[in-house]
Amino acid sequence: MADGYINYDIIIGGGGAAGLSLAYRLANQEFSHLNVLLIEAENDKKNDRTWCSWLPPDRIFDEMALTCFESLEVKDGYETFISNIGPYRYRMIRSSDFYHAVHNRMSESKNVVVLTEKITSESEGKEEVLIQTEHGGKFTTPLYFKSFANHPDLKSARLYVDQHFGGWFVKFKTSVFDPRKALFMDFSIEQGKDVRFMYALPYSPTEALIELAVFSNDIWNTADYDQVLQQYIHQNYSNLDYEIVDTEYGVIPMTDYNFTVHNTSKIIHIGAAGGAIKPSTGFAFSRIQRQCDYIITQLRDGKDIQMSEVFSKRHKLYDKTMLDVILSGRIMGKFVFMDLFRKNKMLDILRFLDEDTSILEELKIMSTCDVGAFGKGFWRSLRT
Ligand SMILES: Cc1cc2nc3c(=O)[nH]c(=O)nc-3n(C[C@H](O)[C@H](O)[C@H](O)COP(=O)(O)OP(=O)(O)OC[C@H]3O[C@@H](n4cnc5c(N)ncnc54)[C@H](O)[C@@H]3O)c2cc1C
Repeated sequence: MADGYINYDIIIGGGGAAGLSLAYRLANQEFSHLNVLLIEAENDKKNDRTWCSWLPPDRIFDEMALTCFESLEVKDGYETFISNIGPYRYRMIRSSDFYHAVHNRMSESKNVVVLTEKITSESEGKEEVLIQTEHGGKFTTPLYFKSFANHPDLKSARLYVDQHFGGWFVKFKTSVFDPRKALFMDFSIEQGKDVRFMYALPYSPTEALIELAVFSNDIWNTADYDQVLQQYIHQNYSNLDYEIVDTEYGVIPMTDYNFTVHNTSKIIHIGAAGGAIKPSTGFAFSRIQRQCDYIITQLRDGKDIQMSEVFSKRHKLYDKTMLDVILSGRIMGKFVFMDLFRKNKMLDILRFLDEDTSILEELKIMSTCDVGAFGKGFWRSLRT
């Protein structure tokens, strides 16, 4: 071991959704023989995002959910599709609740230690990774899970677009929402040249997160989202009085970039930095859980960790195809989604996007898509 360095069996870099999801699993009696260090740059992380995921019953972190929806609605101003998605549900977790609960769990564990400091250098030696932090911390580990990265060539991937959001947590004076139903996608707003949709996630009859998502490489100013949000709420909620309780803004990449090329046997990228964001939708929280479940299984069985095994090659191809179709502009994005929901059962689409379908079911869904546009996208994706 290098002089002056403290060794841990596992170090996790970054304590966001991915780092904490992994630490939560490791802060368990089963792994009490492993000394784990989690290093997070930010002190006292706030409620910086809200994670929604559709998933079957009884999943990890259910107890942290702010709410779960039984039904989803998709519309575009001309057509509306509403469907009960049982046995799935659409779960909403506030990041502040998640950060708090996982930190509690870690503080009760004997094997996971948290350090709030920025990692300033990482270097890979023959046997171990050497990590330094901004106030002089020096650590080594044979296994480093890293959940932040700046991949400089990310935007030069064949398929790349930013998904960016702006949302308001609003509180009305009177009941306006049905808390059992989420507005999943509303394409009725002005589309411009990109894909734009609103969603509304109520957590009481008077309160909801109302958010705008845009797929485009021009990131907006907060004032641009605010203007659309204000107009949308005015038009859709009968000009009723409301207050803005909180806001949420963010940007995530949707891309066919191969994140796993940055992994070695000792440095493994997880979360958004490790390709957990689904290229065709931008959803990542359940995929992060898949990554963590896979890692835990490999650790338990004493096997190598090959992150390229986590997501199926078949679904990677579908993701690329869908992103190709959306970015090529061959069909307007809103028609791609509306068409899918018009011609298929909502639950089947959700299971397909959750990578939980058989080839037969996938062929059935694909047969409902525009053969010309998707055929071209499929062919191009197959060759890259
Ligand atoms: C506003 C927003 C809403 C989203 N909503 C959803 C949703 O509804 N459903 C869904 O599935 N996905 C959603 N996503 C996508 C995805 O789930 C999130 O981006 C998720 O938080 C990614 O987690 P992560 O751990 O990979 O990255 P992060 O949460 O970004 O965590 C990385 C961590 O590393 C830390 N860090 C960075 N540099 C250093 C350093 N040098 N040293 C130490 N620590 C460092 C950061 O402070 C951060 O805490 C959303 C994303 C955003 C931005």
